[in-house]
This record gives sequence, structure tokens and C-alpha cells, in this order.
Amino acid sequence: MEKKGLIRKIMEEMKVEREIEKTGAFETLVATIISQNTNDKNTERAVNRLKSEIGLNVKSILSADRQKLIECLKPAGLYNVKIPRIIELAKRIEHELGDESKLDSMNDEELRTFLSKVKGIGPKTIDIFLAFRRKRDIIPVDTHVSRVSRRLGIADKGDGYFEIRRKLEDLVPAGDRLKAHFSLIAFGRKICTAKRPKCIICPLREECPSSKQFLSPLQ
Ligand code: SF4
Repeated sequence: MEKKGLIRKIMEEMKVEREIEKTGAFETLVATIISQNTNDKNTERAVNRLKSEIGLNVKSILSADRQKLIECLKPAGLYNVKIPRIIELAKRIEHELGDESKLDSMNDEELRTFLSKVKGIGPKTIDIFLAFRRKRDIIPVDTHVSRVSRRLGIADKGDGYFEIRRKLEDLVPAGDRLKAHFSLIAFGRKICTAKRPKCIICPLREECPSSKQFLSPLQ
């Protein structure tokens, strides 16, 4: 099977249908920071708490009580890391842009430059923002996407973020890339897991160059 076929098969098997809720630019960025190293359910709980108990806008975040922020972010974990990132983002927006609505008037490159100055906001978070909020046809590369791509031989071991993204995007038809992103994540969570991938039930085990390694009785 050619490499294009591998991604197509993953998309068919995972049957991911996901609607992206349209939220404000600041809210989308905060939700993306909260989602780092946690699952969708816990992200949603923390975002909802933040919205109902503090309000999810720059001013409310900057005037919020620290303890209250901790309580809101607790369901998503790593609040000691995530709260300073959210506060730094809010401060930069207030000091450098004056108003969060300016985020929407920046072009993609201006936005990329602005956001990459914020500690903890890297290319993945920016790409998620661009794909979710601006409907850009890109494949954000998270830990699952990266692992699956390497195991399947789509990406090489030494490839960096943009190299993996480019290789994946070359294999996925325009218009299908966000679906490919979600499908690869679902596949990485359910089948090609970080520890003990389930090669025995994997629909790609015949084509996958890593399956022998994981199916070996010595593993
Ligand atoms: S065969 Fe194993 S390593 Fe290869 S994609 Fe499937 S689960 Fe992952």
C-alpha cells in the first residue's frame, strides 16, 4: 500500500466526524493551552469552569484571583504550568494589541510571530488555532500524530515539526486535513498507543515497518 493509502485507511477505520465549535480567538487559544497534556473531556470541564466562574476574556483573566484560577484549571492538570502561560498571553494581548479582537485582524504570519513569543505556545498550538478558528487546511502535529507518522515510515526519526507536517500534508487531499489530524490522534490513542501498540489488531500491520518490532515475542 502506498503511503497515501495508509492515511486513507486510518481515516476510514477511525470514522472521526468532528464539528469545531466556533469560539472567540482568545477563548480558542486558552482552550488550546488547557488541552496540552490532557484529554478532551478534562479540557472541556476546565474551560467551562473558567467561563462560568471567571469569564474567558483578557480582562477577566488578568483580574482573576489566583486561587480561583487554580480551582478552574484543576480538572485539566498541570495548572502551575498552564496558568502562567494563559496570563502571559493575556498580558501580551493587553500591552501589545490593546484588545483581543485585534487577534482576528492579523494575518497568519503576523499571528504566528506574535504567538510564538508567548512561552508554551509552539507551532502545534498555533496550527491548532489556525485550523480550528481560521479553517486553514493544515495537519497540526501532536504527540500521537508524530508517533504514528514515524512508526508508519511516513516521517523519519530526525524530522522536526514542520517536516512531519509537510510530509503528512503531501499525502492528504486538500479539504481532508483536519479530519486526518483527528483520525491520526484517535488511531494513536486507540491502536498505535505509545506503550504496547495493538499491532495484533491493527489494520495496517501488514504494511507497517514497525509491526515486526512490536509483535516480536521478545518484546
Ligand atoms: S502495526 Fe503497530 S506500530 Fe504499526 S501502525 Fe499499527 S499499531 Fe502502530
